[in-house]
Amino acid sequence: MPGNCLVLYSGGLDSILACRILQEQGITPLAVRFITPFFGWSLKGNEEAEADRAYGEYGIRLIVKDISAQYLKMVTSPVHGYGRYMNPCIDCKILMVKTTLSMMETYNASFLATGEVLGQRPMSQRRDTLRIIERDSGAEGLLLRPLSARLLPETIVEKKGIVKRNLLPAVSGRGRKVQIALAKKYGITHYPAPAGGCVLADPILSRRFKRIFSIWPSFTLHDCLIARKGRHFLLEDRSWVITGRKQSENIELEKLALPSDVILRPLEVPGPLCILRHACSKRAIETAARIAARYSKASKGQPFKVLARRVEDGFEKTIQVTEPAGDQELDLWRF
Ligand code: SF4
Repeated sequence: MPGNCLVLYSGGLDSILACRILQEQGITPLAVRFITPFFGWSLKGNEEAEADRAYGEYGIRLIVKDISAQYLKMVTSPVHGYGRYMNPCIDCKILMVKTTLSMMETYNASFLATGEVLGQRPMSQRRDTLRIIERDSGAEGLLLRPLSARLLPETIVEKKGIVKRNLLPAVSGRGRKVQIALAKKYGITHYPAPAGGCVLADPILSRRFKRIFSIWPSFTLHDCLIARKGRHFLLEDRSWVITGRKQSENIELEKLALPSDVILRPLEVPGPLCILRHACSKRAIETAARIAARYSKASKGQPFKVLARRVEDGFEKTIQVTEPAGDQELDLWRF
């Protein structure tokens, strides 16, 4: 008797294929896509549109779930450590599988599936780590990896014959040939390129996150979101200065500002929006204005004026900069 299944869904080809392979066997997959400030955040507020897109393009029913709170607790001290950058892949997978496991009853699912492929990723898709993910998430025997199923131990649904193991593929390694052939077979023509999308695995952004996690241990979701935009500077008093690199980024930064932030807006001469977070001392506000001046359109020697405001306490001050921050100072503060 075919059953329901929850599939961890990244939106990439492998997870699309996992759903299609199961559909072919009469299983009804419900794809679960997770969002955190480090991946999938663009879907926040657009959950329904994304579900419509997955159904329209691939015939896959999808739900989107925000696990930011649980993720922030895990990301600073993952039990299984980090990958090459700040990507805690094994703990990330464990958290996602565990969360999906807790949703099984609600969605009347009898097992879980992922698009993982044995040997495709050095950290999280080795035989031993696939086993650890299953064990530490509490999903032993319940987690089917359809693409590599015949290379992995039999799961309960295969033993029961709900899923026919002999019809499942045996994909392994980093190559994409089999997946591309399967995509062709299922008529899947549009799918995102593999990898990418997780800022914790980005060489530059991961360095910034590492510093944020250590400098401000009580960092918040808002800190993680703002860390992804603009130029960033850490001043001596631990104030955090963020400036937009272009107009669209200025607008995004403004939306991400908190009432406790000091926002510096250029007056008279065009320049970047600048946000000052954390310490925000008088000196830091003046330094932030000098940084904004450095990236402004003010010509050499031309005074640059900014209006610094803080919503929380109504603070407001106009600052005139005559000496923009120098390159050496910026190099010292940049992070
Ligand atoms: S790359 Fe990012 S999203 Fe993917 S498993 Fe690793 S930590 Fe999780």
